[in-house]
Amino acid sequence: MAEPDTRPSTTPAASGFDDDEPPSRSRRLPAWQDVPDHLWTDWRWQTQNSVRSVRQLRTLLTFSPAELEAIGRIESEYKLAIPPYYFSLIDPDDPFDPIRLQSVPSPLEAQNQSGYELEDPLEEDKDSPVPGLTHRYPDRALLITTPNCSMYCRYCTRKRATLTRGGWEGISADDERMIDYVRRTESIRDVIVSGGDPLTLPVGKLRYYLDNLKAIDHVDVIRIGTRVPVTLPQRLFDQELIDLLASAEKVYIQTHFNHPREITPESARVVKALLKAGMPVNNHSVLLKGVNDDLGTMRELLRGLLRIKVRPYYLFHCDPVTGAGHFRTSVWKGLEIMEGLRGHMSGIGIPTYVVDSPHGGGKIPMMPNYLVSMADDAVVLRNYEGMLIRYQAEDKPGLSPAAGPRTRGVSALLQGDKTQLMPEGNERMERRRRMEVLDPGYEAGCGGGDSDGPPGVLPLPVMNGRHAASNG
Ligand code: SF4
Repeated sequence: MAEPDTRPSTTPAASGFDDDEPPSRSRRLPAWQDVPDHLWTDWRWQTQNSVRSVRQLRTLLTFSPAELEAIGRIESEYKLAIPPYYFSLIDPDDPFDPIRLQSVPSPLEAQNQSGYELEDPLEEDKDSPVPGLTHRYPDRALLITTPNCSMYCRYCTRKRATLTRGGWEGISADDERMIDYVRRTESIRDVIVSGGDPLTLPVGKLRYYLDNLKAIDHVDVIRIGTRVPVTLPQRLFDQELIDLLASAEKVYIQTHFNHPREITPESARVVKALLKAGMPVNNHSVLLKGVNDDLGTMRELLRGLLRIKVRPYYLFHCDPVTGAGHFRTSVWKGLEIMEGLRGHMSGIGIPTYVVDSPHGGGKIPMMPNYLVSMADDAVVLRNYEGMLIRYQAEDKPGLSPAAGPRTRGVSALLQGDKTQLMPEGNERMERRRRMEVLDPGYEAGCGGGDSDGPPGVLPLPVMNGRHAASNG
């Protein structure tokens, strides 16, 4: 079911860039080598010197004439801004570089082959009781506070919200209406302050949102949805901004790393500052073809996030937004990646994979099947090793028939004739075998009485006694 893909591998080791364990090293492309450190670390300098035009892009990266013509046409349709810091994470020799794919316009944005891509694929505007606010789930509200971002992600779901040029510097009537709606709606407990990126807001306006939301008793959580720690961490070198965020007391940071190479000393530094100020930092990633749609890259990203104490929260399937079709991969690919995570790495590093459904249906979690079969008194579950296990969830006598034709395989598990089936060559069972050799007493202490099962597996009692009988 995998889609044919002629692109080179996206694994970091194959990128020709380097295979640093994140956080990787600080980088600067030659174009900015001579910039003094005090300017390089200044978010204002980074913003003022962001790459904002195809004319600038062609001096920094290689394009074919056809590509230049195509992205020149796209330039007027969707904003372009890449701070020199984030641009420096690109390998200029790799046209398929994962940072480049996320930030540099592509001729593929002009395609909509399926006709499925939409301006507002999640119908957020239809669930908007006041302009700028989406009230979809019972206890949550999303506020669009600005059309600006430090870097414009080419796959952004809210392109439509970022299309406005310029900022809303002052407090507008729409800002007041959004706060008033939250104040009047007592069911709202969690407010997502988003945009655009709210950390591009003027400080006074950000304070307006934070102070007002803090003062609303029924609001327990203020989530700041921001990519600034990833694309412009220098903004958070400013302790005053950290203090302002922390002053609202209810703030969680919801950030957005997609690739391990985005985890740099700079981003690690600002995550540390946010955590130190008492704000949990969660991450959502988007599954993007050519960027992170392979298990190796995803594992490296998640482990890198754990290393800097960012909790992986969601892995979103890429939304069908206009111009982002080339980033979309199959749900099978997402499930294949999830299969390689659960059980194979720490559970605190595993995000929930979700499809954000059309028609405003909200996030729908997707995961491989772990429930294999079921009877009245037991289920058969599968673990990450492919082990099949009979599991009786309730403390009551089993109902599985003690008489009648006996069966094999999964059915035998349901009948209670076996409690587990283990594939051959299991590494964990081999480890148990080695422990038994080293310590013969281990077998007695840890079970191992299932005559037709692997060593060291406890013969779970089955309530109707069938299993106990069959195992003597
Ligand atoms: S930072 Fe967020 S809102 Fe801004 S372009 Fe990227 S995904 Fe969209």
